[in-house]
Amino acid sequence: MEKKEAEIIQNEIKKEISEFKKKINKIPSLTVILIGDYIPSQIYVKNKEKKAREVGMNSEIIRYPKNVSEKEVLNKIEQLNKNVKTSGILVQLPLPDQISKERIINAIHPSKDVDGFNPINVGNLSSGYKSIVPCTPLGCLLLIKKIEKNLSGKHAVIIGRSNLNGKPMAQLLLKENCTVTVVHSKTNNLKNECLKADILVAAVGVPHLVKKDWIKENAIVIDVGINKVGENIIGDVNFDDLKDKAKAITPVPGGVGPMTIACLLKNTLECFKARLI
Ligand code: NAP
Repeated sequence: MEKKEAEIIQNEIKKEISEFKKKINKIPSLTVILIGDYIPSQIYVKNKEKKAREVGMNSEIIRYPKNVSEKEVLNKIEQLNKNVKTSGILVQLPLPDQISKERIINAIHPSKDVDGFNPINVGNLSSGYKSIVPCTPLGCLLLIKKIEKNLSGKHAVIIGRSNLNGKPMAQLLLKENCTVTVVHSKTNNLKNECLKADILVAAVGVPHLVKKDWIKENAIVIDVGINKVGENIIGDVNFDDLKDKAKAITPVPGGVGPMTIACLLKNTLECFKARLI
C-alpha cells in the first residue's frame, strides 16, 4: 500500500489528458491560491503544482502576502469561478486570521471545488449523491479497496472527526456498507473501540497514538497522520510495532500523502470532464 498506487492513478490521468489534448486540444487547469509564507503550505503547493504538470495539466499558483484582505481573495475566486479555462480551484489551508475559512470555502463554485469542502459537495456526499470527495479520504478508500474489494459488513473505526478527514471518511465507508464508528478526543476507552476494527483509519495528529495491542489480527490500518518529531515525519500509528499484525498498513511518509495528491489530480480531471458535457 505505497507510492505505487498513486503512480498508477497518475499514469491513468496522464493518459486520459493526452487523449483529450489530441482529440479536442483542451487540458484540465488547476489554480491554487496560496496566502502567506507558512513553510509546510509552500511545500504542499509546490508538490501539487509539480505533480499536476507531470500529468500534463495546466497549473498555476496565485500567491498573496499574509496580510491580504478577504475581499481581494474573494474577488479572485469569483473571477476564477467565471473563467471557462479554470477546471479546479484550491485555496491552501490554513488561512490567516483576517480571512474566514467558511466564506472562502463557500465562495468556490461547487463544480470547481477540487478539495470537496464546499457545503454543497459535503451535503451531496452525506446524502449518498454524486459529489466531489475530499482528496485524503478518497485516497484512503482507494487504498482500502485495493486490499479488500467488498467492504460490506466490515467494522470500520475512524479516529478523528474533522471535516477534512474523519467525517468524509465515515461517509465513504458507510456508502460501502461498513459499520462505522467515529472516535475522537472525548471518546471513552479508545483502545477498546479500535480493537473492534476490521479497518482502522487514524486521522488524529498524535504521533504513534495507535499501538500493537490496539488492533486485532489482520486489521487493515490506514495512517493519515503527519507529525513532525525532531527531524522526522511520523504517523499516528506505530508502523514497526503493527506491521506484522496488520493485514495491510500504510507507511508515513509515502502512504496516504501521495494518494492525496493523486486524488486531487483525479478530482481536477473529473471537474474538467464535467464541463465538457
Ligand atoms: P484535526 O482537524 O486536528 O482533527 C483531529 C481529530 O483527532 C479531532 O477529531 C480530534 O478530536 C481527534 N483527536 C485529537 N487527539 C485525540 C486523541 N488523543 N484521541 C482521540 N482523538 C483525538 O486534524 P485533521 O485535519 O483531520 O488531520 C489529522 C492528521 O492528518 C494530522 O496529522 C494532519 O497533518 C494529517 N493530514 C494528512 C494528510 C495526508 O495527505 N496524509 C492530509 C490532511 C491531514 P476532537 O474533535 O474531539 O477535538
